[in-house]
Amino acid sequence: MIEIRGLIKRFDGKAVTRNAVDGIDLTVPEGELVTLLGPSGCGKTTTLRLIAGLERPDAGEIRIGGKAVYSSDDNVYVSVHQRPIGVVFQSYAVWPHMTAVQNVMFPLRSGQKKLPVPEARRKAMEALDLVGLADLADRPAPALSGGQQQRISLARALTREPEVLLLDEPLSNLDKGLRDRVRDEIRAVQQRLGITTVFVTHDQDEALAVSDEVILMEFGRIVERGPAQQIYARPRSEFTARFMGISNSIPGTVTACDDDLVDITLPHGSLRCVAAGDLEEGSQVNVFIRPESLSLSRKDATGKGWKGTVEFSIYHGDCWDYHVRVGDTLLRSRIYKEKVGLSHGDPVFVSPDEETAIAIPA
Ligand code: ADP
Ligand code: MG
Repeated sequence: MIEIRGLIKRFDGKAVTRNAVDGIDLTVPEGELVTLLGPSGCGKTTTLRLIAGLERPDAGEIRIGGKAVYSSDDNVYVSVHQRPIGVVFQSYAVWPHMTAVQNVMFPLRSGQKKLPVPEARRKAMEALDLVGLADLADRPAPALSGGQQQRISLARALTREPEVLLLDEPLSNLDKGLRDRVRDEIRAVQQRLGITTVFVTHDQDEALAVSDEVILMEFGRIVERGPAQQIYARPRSEFTARFMGISNSIPGTVTACDDDLVDITLPHGSLRCVAAGDLEEGSQVNVFIRPESLSLSRKDATGKGWKGTVEFSIYHGDCWDYHVRVGDTLLRSRIYKEKVGLSHGDPVFVSPDEETAIAIPA
């Protein structure tokens, strides 16, 4: 288990006065995979490097398995080699002049605890087996695909039998098709071993797919955290809603509250939806609606549709995105149909799915 309290890191000599990591509190329960998710520069890598011991914090505390590896109060600092961690970075760092198994053995044959060749090889083979590469053990590293090379990095991290696995954007250098397979492989190995893991990514879909819990970061701080489903379906802040791809946002005013449901008046209609946080009558909100939760029709069957005009459409293969002007607002509606047959200038009625819309305080 990883426990982090009040973690702070600043880089001197930078024009910005903001801390790269600005007071992070975080617990990763034993055996779980937690993702640090956020835009570039928000402090994900720095946080991971602080946990690894590759960077020294300015203040705070980091405990791994109950033992302090860093504490500013108690003046504790355990070096990277003595921390029970395995690290995988974005670049595979696979040595080209070695075979797969030699790459995995190398760290076991160097450093302080030098293992004899047969034992190092046995451990390396075990790790290669875990990541599904045992068959390719004697293949030269350059003859392996990017995905296989990244699995070698993972195997190498696992040979240390770490208590904690730290992964920094391990899929970013892979082609799209390969990315999903290596992602699944990582999750499979992580669950099989039950190894406590911190996974860094800037990709929402990746974070949702692999995580027990998602930690959303901005400017060196944690903005929101929760199980993947909650972060996706019930964001509590505008930043989270936007980052998780809820692109439609309409300003409105609360007219009635009923537990966590609220009635809202919008510039061009009204709706009843879920409230994020405490709202009262008269509160100003932004209503967030996913494109797939806005349906379009030529006739206003319910009498509640919002009258709009099609501006343009984008074809994605499995769906269409229609951009529809409703009053002053441009809304995006995603439709999973082969043919919708609407074009620029066509009048339509837009109906929101009230179950998935969320009102967030403005
Ligand atoms: P992320 O991984 O989320 O993209 P980083 O942790 O790499 O973000 O960076 C956080 C902030 O710290 C950024 O503003 C970055 O420019 C700065 N930073 C990171 N490493 C260094 C460094 N070695 N020296 C100076 N500034 C750094
Ligand atoms: Mg980074």
